[in-house]
Amino acid sequence: NVDKLGRYKVIYTAKDRSGNKVVKERIIKVVEKKNIGTLQQSNEKIVYLTFDDGPSENTQKILDILDRYNVKATFFVTGENQKYNYLIQEAHKRGHTIGLHTYCHDYKTIYTSVDAYFDDLNKIGNMVKDLIGFVPRYIRFPGGSSNKVSKNYCTGLMSILTKEVIKQGYQYYDWNGDTNDASSNNVSVHEIISSATNENHQNIVILAHDTTVEALPSIISFYQKKGYSFQAINDESFYVHHHVQN
Ligand code: ZN
Repeated sequence: NVDKLGRYKVIYTAKDRSGNKVVKERIIKVVEKKNIGTLQQSNEKIVYLTFDDGPSENTQKILDILDRYNVKATFFVTGENQKYNYLIQEAHKRGHTIGLHTYCHDYKTIYTSVDAYFDDLNKIGNMVKDLIGFVPRYIRFPGGSSNKVSKNYCTGLMSILTKEVIKQGYQYYDWNGDTNDASSNNVSVHEIISSATNENHQNIVILAHDTTVEALPSIISFYQKKGYSFQAINDESFYVHHHVQN
């Protein structure tokens, strides 16, 4: 009974055509399902800086800036630029959190069906496992959970995926702060800073991309001066979920 916690002895028996019989026993533990994270903001002022779409030629610079300010962040990585995969290991070694973004980042591939999405998620999960030894449980949907792009390929997909990833033991992270660094090709450093320093929630999850380097020091010192600490996502962290629109 998977609804009743406890230890169960399961006995398997198998018999072949000649009547040989094998019996095996196994203890199965049904444990409480632990959800990752909380929707409740903590009393502490915390910024969760998150970087999507890396690793890339910028990741090293980002890591060094984070070290300089003694802050931790989270990297939602892809499989698109694997010659920089050593930087995923480096980020992990320096105490940052590695999360899963997507293997191929191609909307029309990953958002075709539930299976297509999980194929891609498993691919990036296995790639990261080879690098750091485990599959991260923290994910960010390409375009966020509120993306409407997926509607072009599969109606109702995000409504299913947002439930299914939780069922499979993941947690997904949208954002309540945005650098807007991906809004167009030539967003100025000034615009990025002013957009990223716009929030006054107690807990802020800031969306940035692996391209945001120059704006980073100003964003960090702005929030540090206001008494925020910068933390990497962990099992207890606050998470943001957007309103699902497909
Ligand atoms: Zn992305």
